[in-house]
Amino acid sequence: MTVRTRIAPSPTGDPHVGTAYIALFNLCFARQYGGQFLLRIEDTDQTRSTPESEQAILDSLRWLGIEWDEGPDVGGPNGPYRQSERMDIYGKYALELVEKGHAFYCFATSEELDEMRREQAARGEAQIYDGRGLKLSAEEVQRRLDAGEPYVIRMKLPTEGVCEIDDMLRGKIEIEWSQVDMQVLLKADGMPTYHLANVVDDHLMEITHVIRGEEWINSAPKHLKLYEYFGWQAPVLCHLPLLRNPDKSKLSKRKNPTSILYYRNAGYLPEAMLNYLGRMGWSMPDEREKFSLPEMQAHFDLNRVSLGGPIFDVDKLNWLNGMWIREDLNTEQLATRLHDWAFNKENLLQILPHAQPRMNTLSDFAPLASFLFSGMLPLTEANFSGNKLDIEQQKEFLQYALWRLEALRFWNRDAIFGELKLLADQMSIKVKDALAPVFVSIAGTTASFSVVDSMEIIGPDMSRARLRHAINALGGFGKNKQKALEKTYLQLGAEPADAQ
Ligand code: GLU
Repeated sequence: MTVRTRIAPSPTGDPHVGTAYIALFNLCFARQYGGQFLLRIEDTDQTRSTPESEQAILDSLRWLGIEWDEGPDVGGPNGPYRQSERMDIYGKYALELVEKGHAFYCFATSEELDEMRREQAARGEAQIYDGRGLKLSAEEVQRRLDAGEPYVIRMKLPTEGVCEIDDMLRGKIEIEWSQVDMQVLLKADGMPTYHLANVVDDHLMEITHVIRGEEWINSAPKHLKLYEYFGWQAPVLCHLPLLRNPDKSKLSKRKNPTSILYYRNAGYLPEAMLNYLGRMGWSMPDEREKFSLPEMQAHFDLNRVSLGGPIFDVDKLNWLNGMWIREDLNTEQLATRLHDWAFNKENLLQILPHAQPRMNTLSDFAPLASFLFSGMLPLTEANFSGNKLDIEQQKEFLQYALWRLEALRFWNRDAIFGELKLLADQMSIKVKDALAPVFVSIAGTTASFSVVDSMEIIGPDMSRARLRHAINALGGFGKNKQKALEKTYLQLGAEPADAQ
């Protein structure tokens, strides 16, 4: 048997360090057994998936040095590797399960299901699909299908007993069937859900080991049942521990930048980043902290992953990155890295039109532009106190601006300005006053060239990270305040892109 592993990211946002961590472990595991590693794009959620996000995932994994044997961009014998291009595959599998009696039509409307959940909640019961579709007679189903009523296909599941999951790392995991919802497999628009597409594709792509984050453990019973219903051999399952913030909470961008692109822009070396991700729950047999990808592959052993949540700590990453810079690059190589990173003509040509009007001497350039080459700026409340709005108003504007910019699909100066101006208008604040805290967050001062141009240059990941950092520097928001803000934000006429 050839070992085949995969990652199956959904292209719905910034390329996350957690995706790279899971990819790295899948890659090392496959290589350890002389097997193959695949990349599949799970974009069944067409409303949230974007081609930009997919491209960013591919680019940032490549930047890190992670290569895949099969994938949407490199092809392979089991393609296409993008689920949106495989849509004609899944329907027949859902129907096969209906025919075998393992799945059924459900015509319940969302209002009916809401009502069902309300009643369950009132009775103090778990809010779970009650199997109403199963009670329809075959004639009734046929009549409603013939009448063209909208339907979904759900999988049947036991309502009693325990599902046992054999996890490579965790041993036996038990989940009560009564806790597992009779999952929709095919939606009313004929599109598959994640669960159906994931299982069908893992089977068709001959995946032998599914190594993924622990947040998918609760999906495992459904998946195992699907393999059983289809009569397919299930892959070995392995759920890796989630990355955590230093305070042990689940890694979130509010506390740490999570986009790989942020780290690239902030000047981390890809080999150091990959080395750091390799230390998430895993260590070399001799405990050495600095190692390369080939070294990790040579010594990899998944069974040595420890289950305690690995802490993604930027201070530790800085320390490791420093070692790579000082010990592994000669001066010549460092010069090349700096050039390729930011000091290249293309980048300078983007920056100079803004700096030149303010320059008397060439030596004016570095102080004017230094914030464009920086990571996080050392901000305190004092940096904001000279602005017109009071600190609380500035902080709120920054939060709203952040939500708007998280939802922004095309990152350019006009689009950024459009969002910020609209927001200022909706909040009845003068644009100039509203932009002042954004200036300070991005450039450290209001005496800089156009903030929206700067944001275009440093890119979305660094811009958002600096806005988040500024909000934290101003004291952040408590839970209740955060909730209140989300509410007010909605009344401004848009939704928080990511309120987590
Ligand atoms: N599309 C899922 C994700 O976004 C894949 C989960 C899995 O590996 O099964 O992570």
